[in-house]
Amino acid sequence: MQAEMMMIGTELLLGQVQDTNATFMGQTLAEHGINLYQKTTIGDNPARIKDALDAALRRSEVVLCSGGLGPTEDDITRECVAELLGRPLEYRPELYTAIEQRFALTGRTLTENNRKQAMAPKGAEIIENPNGTAPGILVEDTRALPGRTHPAYVICMPGVPHELHAMLLDWVVPWLRNRFGLSGVLHYRVLKVCGMGESRVDSAIGDLIQAQQNPTIGLLAGPDAVRIRLAAYAESIPAADALIDPLEDTIRKRLPGRIMGYEEDTLESVVDRLLSERGWSLSVVETASGGALAQRMIGIAASSFAGAQVLPIQQDALTVEERAVDLAGDCMLQYKTNCTLVLLEKVVQNATFALWMSPKGTHQWEISHYGQGARRQLRIAMAALEGVRQAILETTEV
Ligand code: ATP
Ligand code: MG
Repeated sequence: MQAEMMMIGTELLLGQVQDTNATFMGQTLAEHGINLYQKTTIGDNPARIKDALDAALRRSEVVLCSGGLGPTEDDITRECVAELLGRPLEYRPELYTAIEQRFALTGRTLTENNRKQAMAPKGAEIIENPNGTAPGILVEDTRALPGRTHPAYVICMPGVPHELHAMLLDWVVPWLRNRFGLSGVLHYRVLKVCGMGESRVDSAIGDLIQAQQNPTIGLLAGPDAVRIRLAAYAESIPAADALIDPLEDTIRKRLPGRIMGYEEDTLESVVDRLLSERGWSLSVVETASGGALAQRMIGIAASSFAGAQVLPIQQDALTVEERAVDLAGDCMLQYKTNCTLVLLEKVVQNATFALWMSPKGTHQWEISHYGQGARRQLRIAMAALEGVRQAILETTEV
């Protein structure tokens, strides 16, 4: 079965409203194994809506429309469906009663144009809208089109996001799965990679991505991690997991030590867990990261985190390395911790020097800078935390 989305509304073309309905529909349909062929966005213009609908109905079994079901002049989806499919609008008294009841409930008065919402194309099935006045409609396209062998349906839903969400989940998806005998699920798992850019991840697992079928592999870069999304179609979630597990193992072997966690894990939560499991506590000295690392640790109420000093960037007589050792000792004393991380600037090299001290010894490394402002501060903090994660894993067993 092949479906299409038709997003109706001039405000979408003008960029005044973000098309969150399309995002929601795309995700929901994929999760339920419904194959989307195309998405069309179209303004409130009858000729263009009818053209686009007609083309979609010649290609696909189902066209899912969003928007234009309201009572106002520019809400014309209902009329366009009626005209295109040769099913004139009919007055449905039961719809008018439902609208009246809804207005009575919310204490508003009906206007003449609310009558419009009680009209439906001849033979249409009405989809109840418990969250608003505009009901949805389902209409079969029974036109005899030369060469078309598949059945075709138009399903129209209101544009208001929470009304559409509920109608899609509660009525439309079950109807589609039943009508077309669909039983599978699309289930996915996200692995987060730290300390490597998207292109290095791609070169490590590119051949797996090339060969992908089921599960499929997708890469997505972000400021804190590169995400690897493994998605499988199967009869059930456990069956999908069984397809994903061996692929995850293969990817872990290709990227040893680099998989920081799953979607719900953050680098700071993983580092906090590694420290807490060992009974270690952390104090920090920050400079160019401007407190971004402390902010992250405090943001998750990290139990291993004891405190941080944020110092201005300076060049002095001592080398950065010597100054870092001095500051590390002071900081551990002040916050009574057995681990400390000192981040000092190497101004000439435009890099951060990181010194890590733990009961298992000392590590040092450099973090090169790029970007500006808050993003740069976050990158330095994240690279430093990733260095700590690597240092802990290298020196201790789990
Ligand atoms: P109403 O009864 O409210 O008129 P409707 O079915 O006619 O509903 P529209 O008039 O097209 O729907 O849109 C109603 C509201 O929903 C708009 O103000 C808009 O902000 C929002 N909306 C419409 N389409 C989308 C979309 N694709 N994504 C997100 N929001 C949308
Ligand atoms: Mg409207």
